[in-house]
Amino acid sequence: MSMSKAAFVTGVTGQDGAYLSKLLLEKGYKVYGLLARRSSDTTWRLRYLGIHDDVEYVEGDLTDQSSLIRGLSHFPVDEVYNLGAQSFVATSWMQPVLTGYVTGLGAVNLLEAIRLTNPKTRYYQASTSEMFGKVQQPIQNEKTPFYPRSPYGVAKLYAHWSTVNYRESFGMHASSGILFNHESPLRGIEFVTRKITDGVARMKQGIQKELKLGNLEAQRDWGFAGDYVDAMWRILQQPEPEDFVIATGRTTSVRDFCRLAFARVGLNYEKFVTIDPKFNRPAEVDVLQGDASKARQKLGWKPTTSLEELVAMMVDADMERVALERNSSVQAYSYAAV
Ligand code: NDP
Ligand code: GDP
Repeated sequence: MSMSKAAFVTGVTGQDGAYLSKLLLEKGYKVYGLLARRSSDTTWRLRYLGIHDDVEYVEGDLTDQSSLIRGLSHFPVDEVYNLGAQSFVATSWMQPVLTGYVTGLGAVNLLEAIRLTNPKTRYYQASTSEMFGKVQQPIQNEKTPFYPRSPYGVAKLYAHWSTVNYRESFGMHASSGILFNHESPLRGIEFVTRKITDGVARMKQGIQKELKLGNLEAQRDWGFAGDYVDAMWRILQQPEPEDFVIATGRTTSVRDFCRLAFARVGLNYEKFVTIDPKFNRPAEVDVLQGDASKARQKLGWKPTTSLEELVAMMVDADMERVALERNSSVQAYSYAAV
């Protein structure tokens, strides 16, 4: 009998889904990925990491509970990682109901599907520092009260408390990782870090003249996605289900991120960045800074990538992509120009 484990990953085509799948495959897991039907291919991140053909895809959608029940009963797994979401804060004001269905109710659809098929399956919920929103303490840990500031944060809070409730009501091994922002060369182009590093590459290569941004004074605790998916796995290996904050403990402004990213290619951000109020949000999360000491103690987890290393990794990857795109006139790995 094989001792290898199996996992079911929602959001497999996203940044974290791709990195997590790679990690699980390296550990010998059989990985099933929930793939939502789209009119164009969504699997570029899995191809980028060279694992596209190693994942088994299960067709379905978080808003279609029957597809989740069918998937989990055909393919019984040891662990479910719920990473699927409408994950972009700005979009959540434009599509608040969809965000509620996918990001909020989607988690309950999945928890119920697990309860009906195999309640011993371990469950990971992708909770977020956006739940702290208008921060109630200068440094946030597992005990900090929540105060979400967007439909996204509100929907994530519903999913978070649902996870706690399924644990307490049914004794399920269900845990949340409250992850602070984490980035990588696979980050969606609409998020500010990747928007900046992609812009830097275009401006360095002379095909873009300016970069329009919103609030440069916002501060985030930015880590590397590769480090953060390892924390997700560690959370599900714990004997008892529990919630953990995952963060670097360092906070940086969007302005300083710009400064570092432009400096990587020898440019001064002040010559290129302009402010466009259309990128301001109806309610802002001004500053986030996490305290991951519980994760350090109980999971033996700590970040391994500094912000400077992260910026260098992202700028260098975008420099290569933009060069490739110019040479082949193919738009490589960057879609919506938001
Ligand atoms: P991405 O936006 O890169 O990926 C989101 C994933 O969700 C995609 O695979 C997308 O599929 C999928 N998805 C969207 N709608 C549905 C649906 N209706 N049914 C099934 N799947 C759907 O997010 P990240 O990888 O960055 O983040 C992973 C998770 O962690 C998300 O839940 C996010 O909210 C959360 N999180 C992220 C943080 C970060 O800094 N990155 C911080 C804290 C939490 P498709 O490709 O088909 O659109
Ligand atoms: P979030 O923390 O999940 O909202 O991640 P984002 O990367 O989308 O945004 C981080 C911060 O950058 C927020 O406070 C935004 O207001 C700020 N920001 C400033 N300009 C921009 C921009 O042009 N795009 C995005 N996405 N965010 C911006």
